[in-house]
Amino acid sequence: MKERILEMLLSRKDQFVSGEEMSSLLGISRAGIGKHVTKLREEGYRIESQTRLGHCLHREHIPLNSFELKHKLPTKSLGCEFVVLPEVISTNDMAKELARNGAAAGTVVIAKRQTGGRGRLGREWVSPNGGIWMSIILRPRISLRDAAIYTLLTGAAAAAAINGVTALRSGIKWPNDILINGKKVGGVLTEVVGEWQSIDFLVIGIGINANLQWAQLPVGLEASSLEIEAGKPVELVRLIQTILCRLEELEQELLEGNREAVLNEWRKLAVCLNCAVTVKEHNNLWLGTSVDINSDGALVVKNAEGNLVKVYSGDVSLRSEAGNLVFKIQ
Ligand code: ADP
Repeated sequence: MKERILEMLLSRKDQFVSGEEMSSLLGISRAGIGKHVTKLREEGYRIESQTRLGHCLHREHIPLNSFELKHKLPTKSLGCEFVVLPEVISTNDMAKELARNGAAAGTVVIAKRQTGGRGRLGREWVSPNGGIWMSIILRPRISLRDAAIYTLLTGAAAAAAINGVTALRSGIKWPNDILINGKKVGGVLTEVVGEWQSIDFLVIGIGINANLQWAQLPVGLEASSLEIEAGKPVELVRLIQTILCRLEELEQELLEGNREAVLNEWRKLAVCLNCAVTVKEHNNLWLGTSVDINSDGALVVKNAEGNLVKVYSGDVSLRSEAGNLVFKIQ
C-alpha cells in the first residue's frame, strides 16, 4: 500500500492530491493514508500535507531505497533485485553469500555504510554514509581467464556514468581506480567464485565517494569525493541507475564477442596511458612507458629496450613530475 501511495504522489509530483481521492482510489481510510504518509516521511521523503489540499510530494531529495532504484530503471536484468541495507560489513561479502544461496544474476546489494569495506588484497576501503557502496552478482558463462576484463568494464561503466550524471570529468587509472583531478574518488573490486574452466559467479564491488565531506575521507591520501569536486551533492539513485545501464550495455557487447568495444571505452576514459612508469616486480625494478591494455586487460608497458611487456597485476601510483604524469607499478 505504501508503494501505491508513493506511486500516486509521484505521478503528480509537486501537486497536491486530496486525501479523499487517495482514499477512494486505494480503498483505505483517510487515517490509513495519513499513517503511510507519516511512514514515508520517516523514510526520507519530503511530503507536505495541508488539511484542505491533501498531500504533495517534493522531489529535491530522493531516498536511496529499492522502490526508487527500480523506478523507471531501463535495464533488462541488472537490478532485477535490490537489497538495500543501512549497514553491512562488506557488500561484496554479503553478495557472495546471497549468490552461494542462489541469488539471481543482476541482484544488487547496496549499503549506506560498510564497517569492513575492502579494496584489493584485503586493504581497508573507508565507506561512511553518503557514498555508493554496492555489489552486483553476475553469472556469465566464461572462464576464469575471461573474468579479469570485468574490472575494466566496470571501471569504464562507473567513470562514464559519473561523467554523464555530473559535470565532472573522471578517468580510470589501471586497473581499478576512478580518479578526478588526480584524486581517487572510487574503485572496483571484482571477486570470482568457480572453477578455472567455468566460473560459478562474479561479484563486482563498486565504491564511489559520492556525497562525502573532507572529514569523512581517509587522511593523508590523494582522495576526494564527487560532492567536493562538483561543489554540490549528486543524486545517488540516478548515478546508480546510470552505472547499471552502462554496465549492462558493456557486458552485452562483451558477451556478443565485441571485446574491442569494451576496451575502447576503457581507453577513452583511461588517464594512465602514455605515461612514464616504474614497474616493480618482486625485487626487479624497471622503467618504461605505458602504451595500452591488451585483450586480457593487462597493462602493456614498453621497456627501455623498446620491447612490449604485459603487466597483469600491480599497484600503480600516479604523480606529476615537471608536468609529466608518472606512475609506479609495484
Ligand atoms: P589501490 O589504489 O592500491 O589499487 P585499492 O583499490 O586496493 O587500492 O583500495 C584500497 C586503498 O585505497 C587503501 O589502502 C587506501 O589507501 C585507499 N582508500 C581507502 N578508502 C578510500 C576511500 N574511501 N577513498 C579513496 N581511497 C581510499
